[in-house]
Amino acid sequence: MNQNAPAPERIAARVSIIGEDTPIRRALPSRARRMVGAWCFLDHAGPVQFAPDDGLHVGAHPHIGLQTFTWMIEGELMHRDSLGNAQIIRPGQVNLMTAGRGIAHTEDSVNDGGRLHAAQLWIALPDGERFRAPAFDHYPQLPGKPLDGWQVTLLAGRALGLEAPTRIYSPMVGMDWTCEDAARAVLPLEAGFEYAAMVLRGQAHIGGELLTPGELLYFAPGGQSLEIASDAACQVLILGGEPFGEEILLWWNFVARSQAELQAALDDWESGSERFGKVHPGSRAAPLKAPALDGVRLKNA
Ligand code: MN
Repeated sequence: MNQNAPAPERIAARVSIIGEDTPIRRALPSRARRMVGAWCFLDHAGPVQFAPDDGLHVGAHPHIGLQTFTWMIEGELMHRDSLGNAQIIRPGQVNLMTAGRGIAHTEDSVNDGGRLHAAQLWIALPDGERFRAPAFDHYPQLPGKPLDGWQVTLLAGRALGLEAPTRIYSPMVGMDWTCEDAARAVLPLEAGFEYAAMVLRGQAHIGGELLTPGELLYFAPGGQSLEIASDAACQVLILGGEPFGEEILLWWNFVARSQAELQAALDDWESGSERFGKVHPGSRAAPLKAPALDGVRLKNA
């Protein structure tokens, strides 16, 4: 149980579409909660079985002020970016792209007609890091350990005596908990961290609350431990971090602090500026067009 802590909040994910027809459950940002630590975006994509001539194909698009974080569960995607990186990500691996002041990338299924199941996250960069040079890192293996029936994989930060190699810039943690049969374990919580859980497969009891795919369960700081239990095969994503403490503006693929920054990034993308560069050879899908910036509700609070 989450001892002496506020009651958890349930946040329903919104179902939307990425690429041409890949259904995703978007849990962050939501009206009820914009961030969990520096985690500011969470899509649970799939599981989906594509038709023989179909796959995920996301055309070139820019990012600023954030890191994109992909945790692959089923399927294979090719990442290409304007730094010249071309990297296939496979199940059990993480791709981490640090946009900093600006980068562009594409994502494509390696083979059409396959399956896809992944968690796609964004991490907001703190003010002192958000203009850094762009970078891309591929992590073919993450540290893990068995724990009372679970197999825990550490995706970011530190927990349970493990330390992830992933390059992050604020106090935070990300974990995958998978079991193939009944399992029950206790996660000691970091003082001052908020946490959230999202079930990717099966169902679990998190801090005594039954959780199924499509909902995020949020825990405010103050708990000492969290019981994570399941009666059957299950996979759970656990996110946490120090409350971010900076008000961000998240619009389209950008994280900024002012409308002027968003407008400048949009202008730079639309004019083909060197800031974002080019992705070669890119995707068969066309480059993405930004929605209108005027009139969007920018305040995240
Ligand atoms: Mn992207």
